[in-house]
Formats: sequence, C-alpha cells, structure tokens
Amino acid sequence: MKALEERILKDGQVRPGNILKVDNFLNHQIDIQFMNEIGKEFKRVFADKHVTKIMTIEASGIAIAAIAAQYFEVPIVFAKKSQSINLDGSLYSAKVPSFTHQTTYDVILSKKFLSKDDHVLILDDFLANGCAAKGLISIIENAGATLEGVGIVIEKGFQSGGKELRDHGIDVRSLAIIESMTDDGLVFRSQN
Ligand code: 5GP
Repeated sequence: MKALEERILKDGQVRPGNILKVDNFLNHQIDIQFMNEIGKEFKRVFADKHVTKIMTIEASGIAIAAIAAQYFEVPIVFAKKSQSINLDGSLYSAKVPSFTHQTTYDVILSKKFLSKDDHVLILDDFLANGCAAKGLISIIENAGATLEGVGIVIEKGFQSGGKELRDHGIDVRSLAIIESMTDDGLVFRSQN
C-alpha cells in the first residue's frame, strides 16, 4: 500500500533492537482517517474470503481490527493479555513470547466468543517473529474454527514470522513489508 509506505518513511523511527516506532499514527496517537484507508485495503485484499469474525490481540490490534470490521460487517474479538490465568474450562489460552518486552505472557479468550462455525481473519499491527499470530492461531485451532487469513499492517520481512506462516500454507497479507531497516533508511519489498 503506497500511502502506508510513504507514511512509514515520513513518520517511522528506527529504534535499537529492530523496533520501528510508528506511534504518531498507529501505536499511540491514531490517525483515524488513515486507519479507515487501511481498513478498506484489508477488505479489498481479503474480498474473496468468507469471514465471520475478526480476531486480534490487545492493545494495538484493537483499533485496526475495529475499523476494518466496519467494512467486513462482522464483530471483532481480541485476546487479552493476562498475568495469571485461572483455567476453569471457560477460556482458550496460549503463551506468547513478546517481541517488544522480551517476556512471555498468556493470552486468553472466552470460549463464548469463538466457535467451530467461525471463519476467522486475524489482523494485527506488526509481524516480526510471528509469536502473536501463532498464539492466536492455536486458539482458533483449539476452538475448531477456520482460519481464513492473517492481515498485517507492517511486516518486518527480515524477521522469520511471515515466512514461517506462509510455509505452513497460511494466507498472510501485509500492507507494507520492510525488507531491511537501518538508521540510514528503510527498503520495502515490492508486492503486486
Ligand atoms: P511477533 O509476535 O510477530 O514477534 O511480534 C508482533 C508483535 O510485537 C506485534 O503485535 C507488535 O505489538 C509487536 N512488535 C513487533 N515488532 C514491532 C516493531 O518493530 N514496532 C512496534 N511498535 N511493535 C512491534
């Protein structure tokens, strides 16, 4: 998505540890008009999919998923991050190593909100090593639901997540893929 690449070049800041900061439009302050364009683009990219629910992970994924969901006309569910889980049978859970915080946390989702009849599209802000996406996929598998695809705003293509998921046959579409990232500049992967 050309406008997204231009916005990343204008506003993105490269931080130590392969972190890209985009918190003036995506991760802290949110540019809603721009998010609307991102939502429409996800709908265009996944137009042929039968989606009954959009799934994401708190916190940054929620705004993206909520805005995109207007175009899919489906609810969103978000996995919650939790320190301690009381597994009483009413929750799906998965362990997710955090890329930005270098810890592992549990994510939980109430069983009420995902069933085997659901066709799920995962949406998230970043794809790095794919841990967040894999956690959500394991919850979808536990629910017996169908994964329709994974939509990502910014994929860091020099990290392993995108390749691993695609190698498993998962339909991963990223609106911008960063091929390389240094203090001196960003290079995007060209996509059709
Ligand atoms: P993964 O689980 O794929 O390794 O990392 C994805 C998650 O880590 C995303 O949900 C996002 O919150 C966070 N993340 C990974 N890389 C970056 C980055 O470069 N910048 C920001 N702002 N978040 C990132």
